[in-house]
Amino acid sequence: MKRIGIIGAMDEEVSFLKSIAENKTEKDGFVSGTINGTEVVIVMSGIGKVNAALCAQRLILEFGVTHVINTGIAGAAAHGLTVLDMVASTDAVYHDFDVTGFGYKPTVIPRMETSEFKADEKMLKAAEKAFAELKDTDDFKGHKLISGRIASGDQFISNKQVKNHIIEICNPACVEMEGAAIAHACFLNKTPFLILRCMSDCADDGEESTYDFNDKIAANMSAKLVQKLISGASAL
Ligand code: SAH
Repeated sequence: MKRIGIIGAMDEEVSFLKSIAENKTEKDGFVSGTINGTEVVIVMSGIGKVNAALCAQRLILEFGVTHVINTGIAGAAAHGLTVLDMVASTDAVYHDFDVTGFGYKPTVIPRMETSEFKADEKMLKAAEKAFAELKDTDDFKGHKLISGRIASGDQFISNKQVKNHIIEICNPACVEMEGAAIAHACFLNKTPFLILRCMSDCADDGEESTYDFNDKIAANMSAKLVQKLISGASAL
């Protein structure tokens, strides 16, 4: 039986999905229910890597989810990607993992089989299909979805130099603060995952005001894409 765990860092990233879930029960902030007949467990993790990883681990161990989706907002990094465009993860890395003193490349976690956590291909295809079905509707018109790498770190990126450094070391499509930690937990638990993010800002100098202008719209677009993806969950 499929049961999809859905994590958002902040309330505004999960409130829509919680509101449309049916047959709801709640334990410790984990809301179990169904969306379009598919079992889901929806939770707000809190911001940052540790909050996100612990939440993914609990979803898998305590709530028995078979798949994990991380939904939310992010700063655009890929060339041509802008506010309210979307990214579906091909893989996720930590841009702030640095053991370069021992000769490792930036982002590499020593003594681990991989530091580039690969998203599930079926989930990625399902997200692309879901977006194709939504792209001419009012909320999505004029915006695109690209598949690409997500880079995470415990840092809000709003500085051109820092952004350019991250692009240089790992070339992500977008930057945020949770995805790779969720991906890491899913990798260790052999659980398929996908990260979906809608761009609230471009991670450039002083982007906090762009973020504040777009955060709720972007959070809802990502949640709506998750809703659509789940309605085609039989393909997962
Ligand atoms: N305004 C918030 C703080 C947001 S922290 C508050 O005061 O509560 C940024 C959140 O949005 C994180 O969860 C992160 O994943 C995402 N995010 C969006 N744009 C980002 C950026 N440019 N850099 C890093 N994270 C970003």
